[in-house]
Amino acid sequence: QTSQDIRTILKTRFGYDDFRPLQAEVIRAALGGQDCFALMPTGAGKSICYQLPALAMDGLTIVVSPLIALMKDQVDALKSNGVSAAFLNSAQSWDEQNAVRKSAFEKRLDLLYVAPERIPQAAFRHFLEAVDVSLIAVDEAHCISEWGHEFRPEYRNLKTLRALKPAAPVMALTATATERAREDIVRQLELREPRVFVASFDRPNLRYSVLPDRNRNEFLDKWLSDHPNESAIIYRGSRAGADETAERLADVGVSALPYHAGLDERTRTRNQERFVRDEARVIAATVAFGMGIDKPNVRLVMHYETPSSVERYYQESGRAGRDGLEADCVMFHGPRERDRAAYFIERMEDGALRAAAERNLDAITAYCQTASCRREALLAHFGERYAADGCDNCDNCLADTFDATIIAQKILSAVIRTGGRYGATYIAQVLRGSDSAQIRQRGHETLSVFGIVDDFSEAAIKELAASMSARGMLAVGSDYPTLSATAKGREFLRLRESVWLPVPTKSAPRIRGASAPSSTSDPASDYDAALFEKLRALRSRLASELGVPPYVIFGDRPLREMCHNFPQSPASLLAINGVGQRKLEDYGAAFLEIIADYARENGGIPDKTPSAASPSAAIPRATEPRRRSTRRYDKTLPLADLGLPVREIAERLSLRETTVAGHVENLIASNALRDPSPYLPERGRLDQIIAAIEAVGDARLKPIYLHLDEAFDYEEIRFARAYYRARNSGGGDG
Ligand code: ADP
Ligand code: ZN
Repeated sequence: QTSQDIRTILKTRFGYDDFRPLQAEVIRAALGGQDCFALMPTGAGKSICYQLPALAMDGLTIVVSPLIALMKDQVDALKSNGVSAAFLNSAQSWDEQNAVRKSAFEKRLDLLYVAPERIPQAAFRHFLEAVDVSLIAVDEAHCISEWGHEFRPEYRNLKTLRALKPAAPVMALTATATERAREDIVRQLELREPRVFVASFDRPNLRYSVLPDRNRNEFLDKWLSDHPNESAIIYRGSRAGADETAERLADVGVSALPYHAGLDERTRTRNQERFVRDEARVIAATVAFGMGIDKPNVRLVMHYETPSSVERYYQESGRAGRDGLEADCVMFHGPRERDRAAYFIERMEDGALRAAAERNLDAITAYCQTASCRREALLAHFGERYAADGCDNCDNCLADTFDATIIAQKILSAVIRTGGRYGATYIAQVLRGSDSAQIRQRGHETLSVFGIVDDFSEAAIKELAASMSARGMLAVGSDYPTLSATAKGREFLRLRESVWLPVPTKSAPRIRGASAPSSTSDPASDYDAALFEKLRALRSRLASELGVPPYVIFGDRPLREMCHNFPQSPASLLAINGVGQRKLEDYGAAFLEIIADYARENGGIPDKTPSAASPSAAIPRATEPRRRSTRRYDKTLPLADLGLPVREIAERLSLRETTVAGHVENLIASNALRDPSPYLPERGRLDQIIAAIEAVGDARLKPIYLHLDEAFDYEEIRFARAYYRARNSGGGDG
């Protein structure tokens, strides 16, 4: 396989123009038969690393993944790209499992997802012995390590897999692993001289901010109204908190659902599914939520309370913006929260756990209090150096700051001189020299700090004091909000350090603004919002018709690109990054129709696709000679490709079963179905029918039926005949 070959597969099968960092390297290692270990952050595109080799290699690719819930979505997404994939898990009926095994035996399957608990089962081992496996991919590989935070003992079964298929290279992938867990994974999986790929953990599209712990709801409501229709995850520190947020939002008309361990499993699964499918806009969750959530278009992850460690924060906030489009990560933090956490940690019995919790608390506090780039601080925590000087995409890099050294000295002095017993309002009044009975009563009008500030208002001083406590220079009492100087604050005074603080009154957070059209020509930010809503609605409709999450149809990015370029021909649509041959065929017409109507209604907006001669438009069409005459069945086709029973397809499309059966028959006969096996009888019976066809000819069903002693039903025979015809038409692969 040349690099050109794999790029062609990337475009025709997945619709992408270019590889993301390290994808091509990992893929080449696998194609070269080498074991490899890929450490890439969430959203970096790990799946392509094994999905593409699965298409490029002859045998079967086995993907071990811990999450049954996720397998189905992944398989649906693959099928929508015309990739033949399936999964085996305990929730399936025996018949379903059999159909999967059969398609593997017949080499009609590229990818098979399995849960790790399957591996030791005898039936699975026998199955493996009989198939040709070209790659073993282990997703969420950190689950094998006790040093990881999600240890799954079943992952230890993977060793058996290696022993059974020693010739197949193993690819381990994870988004989370400390140095120690990394070594452990390599050892546990018995990787042989693995190539190790470590991607940068930077997520440049995420905008990090830390806000003082007040007005959370105000912030959230404003964000939700500034970003209509966009999805958000709200992390709460407790179940009650998650319920409260979900209820409050529902009260103000935002579709929001809770997710926490206190809900029964069915409710949890349903809430998660509704969120992933864009049926609920917000999920208010505890830490129980997240593992394996594959929702690419989350635009805000808000931490209502400060999480217990930087790792956790990185992971949870990382669920924003997986599609690479800009997203906000906002955490609320206040000194009182820190004190509360410390209070619980002090009472922990196990010394080692307590020490670890203390280290974590110190690290996350330092992250919250830093006045320099948040991104740099996060990456430093994972041992990565951020090369640039400031990221221009975190609150600190974006804040208008000023040299606040003098005013900070004055505030600290006033706090110390008054004995660290008063709140911010009182301190501000002393500094401003207010005429107040309380001040006179306590004799504070005689202090040297009385009336020494006239360049900042009382409100501004209070804001500055809040910034200073956010940076750990002042502490806030736990019963009353009294200010006192911390050791850090005293050092600052003693060493005459300088400090820059956000300009008060303008220190309102600089989160991404309402989606105002910008002047750039980047499709990610400059796109027609009205058309976007129309396409989004079409996507939701198609998704619910097909029973898949919306992103399986198209992600937000390709949609935005459509609303930027206004493609009005199949070639232009194919030029969009994220539109592959298969999706063009399945959904192209529906999207083109809406775009064309919209362009017409708005005075004839031209197709702005960079030119039909652009490199992506020149990508060769998929090589398979399929789907020429299938247009009549284009509603049935995607559903039949998912392998849905005829009855279910008929129900969904409000057609008669016999009509759908006729469609399926023709689709099988014209070799248009990626995988006809769900409609075929099992191998032994299929062979009998084929023998009968060879004996009496395929022109009419009745002679076949009679030849088989009426032991088979007509539908079975029809589909088997179609399969027989496809095989003998010379157009198929066999
Ligand atoms: P991970 O498993 O690393 O979190 P995924 O494999 O789910 O990431 O990919 C994240 C998103 O990036 C998906 O929406 C995927 O379709 C998209 N993606 C992957 N590779 C590419 C690429 N080369 N170009 C554009 N988008 C890509
Ligand atoms: Zn920054």
